[in-house]
Amino acid sequence: MNTNFLQLGDDSPLSRIKTYFDALQNSADEYFFVVDLNSGKVMLSQNFIRDFSFHDSIVDDFAALLTPFIYYEDREIMESAMSELDSASPGVEVTSEFRLLNRNGEYGWVSLRMSTGVDEFGQPEIVAGVIARMDLKQKADYITGLLNRNAFHVALMKELNSSPDVRGAVIFIGLDNFQLINETYGHQFGDTTLRQIAQDITNILPPDIRLYKLDNNMFAFFVSDVYPEEIEIIFSSIQLCMREIRNIEDTIYCTASAGATFYPNDADDVITLMRYAEVALDFARQKGRDQIAFFDSESYDRWRYDIGMQNLMQNSIARGCEDFFLCYQPQIDAKTGELVGAEALLRWYDRDGSVVAPMQFIPMLEKSRMIIPVGHWIIEKAVSTLKKWHELMPTLQVSINISLYQLEEHMLFEFVKDCLDRYQIDPTRLTFELTESHNIYDWDFVNKQFQAFHDLGIKISMDDFGMGYSNLGFLKNFQCNEIKIDRVFVEDILHSDYDKNLVKYVIMLCHAVGMEVCIEGVEDEATYIFLRDECGADVIQGFYFGYPETEDVFVKRLKK
Ligand code: C2E
Ligand code: MG
Ligand code: MG
Repeated sequence: MNTNFLQLGDDSPLSRIKTYFDALQNSADEYFFVVDLNSGKVMLSQNFIRDFSFHDSIVDDFAALLTPFIYYEDREIMESAMSELDSASPGVEVTSEFRLLNRNGEYGWVSLRMSTGVDEFGQPEIVAGVIARMDLKQKADYITGLLNRNAFHVALMKELNSSPDVRGAVIFIGLDNFQLINETYGHQFGDTTLRQIAQDITNILPPDIRLYKLDNNMFAFFVSDVYPEEIEIIFSSIQLCMREIRNIEDTIYCTASAGATFYPNDADDVITLMRYAEVALDFARQKGRDQIAFFDSESYDRWRYDIGMQNLMQNSIARGCEDFFLCYQPQIDAKTGELVGAEALLRWYDRDGSVVAPMQFIPMLEKSRMIIPVGHWIIEKAVSTLKKWHELMPTLQVSINISLYQLEEHMLFEFVKDCLDRYQIDPTRLTFELTESHNIYDWDFVNKQFQAFHDLGIKISMDDFGMGYSNLGFLKNFQCNEIKIDRVFVEDILHSDYDKNLVKYVIMLCHAVGMEVCIEGVEDEATYIFLRDECGADVIQGFYFGYPETEDVFVKRLKK
């Protein structure tokens, strides 16, 4: 590093104190500076050069160099500290606090302490100052006693700078369900458990690896020269010890997930590595928790796309579901070949104007509960459209897809009833196609709400019959008016005796208990004729009769 002491001159006060200055700066995290009041030159500690990209440790106008890094609202604070120092007696400490940009590109609070030193004649000669990052004072996590995020940051930085060939892995460990422990047994018990987990993981790790405690019940460590298999072995031991923790008290159920990323392959700077490890941890949680996931850039791009889409959808919802729209696909009476209904299918305009299909965003809408407001919008939109269309075809039926998850919403029934009242639509003209969804918590309530819609007269159709939840077992508990047989059972029906018999007997079975059958995914005439004549299907839907169409296109069918 270019420390040009020739500029100082041997007898300058800066040269005289340089030895002490160096000793001090090597053993502390704070930033140091000393101003020679005669020459105006300022000696800076090396971490200024590292953290602020200053070019030299001897500079002329320190205040001008530092000011751009000070939060603009706080620059006055720094200036008034400087003028306070001008009028302060030598030896009197002047302090101030302001926000300074840190290496992560974020503003963090720092404290500045300065005082003036005098020469042998009592004349002011130097100003010595220390800038301390306030967050660094707090280096340890107070519950576990482990070093915290800042300390991890510093240690990882040191590791990455230790050699040009450095390689290794950063691992984040997150406790699954820990919130539940806190909520069930109280925070005091939660803290004790956390301390115990910290201790156990520390014991598992090889002695030269240090465990750190980050925020949000996350732990972190890094290991040099390590392969994924070795990380997996370490993680298995952690899982094992988590199980033991659970056994102490039968009712405690706490598992851990982990995310790992490799340097320098994935990234070679602290910020990116920490972000990637957290993203990988998120992958592990999404895959079902209690496992480790490794960062990979493909999943990361998808993850970022999803996050971006989630934000855009949130904005769109805030603007009244502006970028959503419904398409309608014709449903045909199998026997007469005439139009009887339309299925409303949701679409969304991406930022480039392209249309995104529902399978790409419905799961995300469900997970984030955004499906609730969007679901209301769909119902309102479909019912109001049906109202207009009834002028052209009073018997038209509209099907709306409702995921079981939406049935968990307590206000749904009132909303639907009010909507039907406002548009004066006979409930029997509306069909709810129940689609599969995950994580139903309150089956009792879903059952009650289902029954309420049934009693109101809304037709209930079991979508995608034969897939997931949609099966005979479900039909035993939820009495439906119709089932929709999924496309996978009909795409090969003309060539597969097995599929032929399966569809035929399912239809017979449904008819025997008074249910109708709609067949989805019919793409050609031969399949349609077979389903009509050999199987006795009631309703047909598929590209053969029409693709999902916008409202304007669909209405032309009604005007024919
Ligand atoms: P679904 O309810 O089973 O809808 C039928 C899907 O099959 C639609 O896909 C439709 O475009 C497609 N399809 C119809 N006929 C044919 C055909 O002959 N051949 C082929 N290859 N495909 C055909 P889409 O619109 O992409 O919807 C996919 C799924 O997204 C729907 O499956 C439904 O589960 C869900 N979804 C759509 N709209 C909504 C909605 O408003 N709310 C909720 N909760 N889910 C929705
Ligand atoms: Mg459907
Ligand atoms: Mg379906």
